[in-house]
Amino acid sequence: MEEAPERLEIRQRFPSWREMLKPVKKFEEGRVSYLSLPKQVNSEFFKMPFGDVERDLDDLKLPENWKEIFLDAMKDTLEKNRAFKVFMDICVRCGACADKCHYYIGTGDPKNMPVGRAELIRSVYRRYFTPAGKIFGELAGARELTEDVLKELYYYAYQCSLCRRCSVFCPYGIDTAEIVWWLRRMLSRVGLNQRFMTISIEASSRTGNHLGLLPGGMYGSIQQGLEELKDITGFDLHTYINKKGADVLFVAPSADYFATPHWYVMLGYLLLFNELEERYGLTITWSTYAGEGGNFGSFHSYEAAQLLNSKLYKEAERLGVSFIIGGECGHMWRDKHQFINTMNQPPKNEEWKRFWENPDLGELAEGLRGIRFDSYASGEHGWIHILEFVAALIEHKKIKVDKSRNDQWIATYHDPCNIARGMGLIEEPRYVLRNVMNNFYDMPEHTIKDKTYCCGAGGGLLADELMDLRMRGVMPRMMAVRHVYKKYGVNILLTPCAIDKAQFPHALEYWKIPVEVGGPMEMVGNALVLTAFGEKPEDRQYDLRGEPLKKEEGE
Ligand code: SF4
Ligand code: SF4
Repeated sequence: MEEAPERLEIRQRFPSWREMLKPVKKFEEGRVSYLSLPKQVNSEFFKMPFGDVERDLDDLKLPENWKEIFLDAMKDTLEKNRAFKVFMDICVRCGACADKCHYYIGTGDPKNMPVGRAELIRSVYRRYFTPAGKIFGELAGARELTEDVLKELYYYAYQCSLCRRCSVFCPYGIDTAEIVWWLRRMLSRVGLNQRFMTISIEASSRTGNHLGLLPGGMYGSIQQGLEELKDITGFDLHTYINKKGADVLFVAPSADYFATPHWYVMLGYLLLFNELEERYGLTITWSTYAGEGGNFGSFHSYEAAQLLNSKLYKEAERLGVSFIIGGECGHMWRDKHQFINTMNQPPKNEEWKRFWENPDLGELAEGLRGIRFDSYASGEHGWIHILEFVAALIEHKKIKVDKSRNDQWIATYHDPCNIARGMGLIEEPRYVLRNVMNNFYDMPEHTIKDKTYCCGAGGGLLADELMDLRMRGVMPRMMAVRHVYKKYGVNILLTPCAIDKAQFPHALEYWKIPVEVGGPMEMVGNALVLTAFGEKPEDRQYDLRGEPLKKEEGE
């Protein structure tokens, strides 16, 4: 793991638009993504053009006709994607987005302003696709596509986490994340792919999950979870893996199988699934083939996104389930909410079709009748978010919770960009938290909900070599956490996103804020009373971290 920088210096500069056209030549250490290795992009499963060459930014080893290939890819994008074409033309440089990007705030680099970032490719668009740019060149804000410009495009395309915060503030709704997404695809056409992302895509296309876990490893991890839960609850619990005929397929981000603090969320899922089966007969299975709900392909290109999400519907159909529940992953929900059913055919099995004709849980488990999925924010595509699901169980009084089991925690909640801005799931996680714990405080309003700040490591930027950028980009979020830490004594930052859970422990240490990190499902697992097993609220002695539960004063 790359060391976090000792000190961050932020210099704000506002160059002229003319100056912005000159490509930067000096790439800051800690902000440049490594380029992919040949075996990643040229794997049997994930083939990308010109993937068989080892390259770095000093020597791109571009194909001879690289300019033609890049501009052809741009022409194709302009013709097929109306939004991209509109975004190239309508920016009025009002600057409303300028200070809304966490990377601009943290680096002070004007090319990290959303408008500055989009101008990098817009200037090329003007030169080759507009009459004014062709005739007047620089005077019309146009520039030649040179190798230096190409390097600069790569450098800044991977200093954007695709978080879409800027688009919330743009009066024209310009989505810089979408511009960058298409730009990354153009770069990949000439062989420029980011290493961290392609490692994950290759692993997921080969094994079904980003971490490359094999079925035995996943199975062993889940079994380990059940053993830990036996120590904590005293009950023999079980689960299903690859079970044909189960009601539901559950898909987690792969970090939940072994990383910390993700692991405690995994224990929370297992407790909930056991209670639901024992009490209502609802059966939920995991899959070793579709063991990953996240999709790093959605940070790279249409083709990669489609490739990775294809396995999920196929597995749902093979197992004959009625719907899918997705776990605590952020970008899983951009992928499922925006893309999945436009890229792949939904499952065709009878159980699926029957359930979605009348999506009432009572059709699968009589005791759960009345919980209808057609009123959900998620669910449109057969996918239910775990926190929306739990919110409904609480609202309909289908599970029993004891808030006091979380009294050791004073929590705040981070809205992952793709869940809050991407799909509008904003109130349900808060509803769950207020019902499973006594101490919950939101961060300041301009930093949460649809205006949430990125964790600084999304969109493929969790790479070790980007530590400087990550610690800079996370600064606005950390300042908001520090605020609630000082004001309310917050001691845990909860987030339903695996990338956040990996990034925040480093960030909190770097920014010297003594706060732990966890997920809402850990709090649900702590509070959940296993009534079907005869558990009483006062029976549980330890939380999911194995710590003794807080006792009343004097005890
Ligand atoms: S807010 Fe929108 S129109 Fe204004 S500079 Fe930014 S992208 Fe352009
Ligand atoms: S999408 Fe996010 S990271 Fe990218 S430019 Fe906009 S605010 Fe910055």
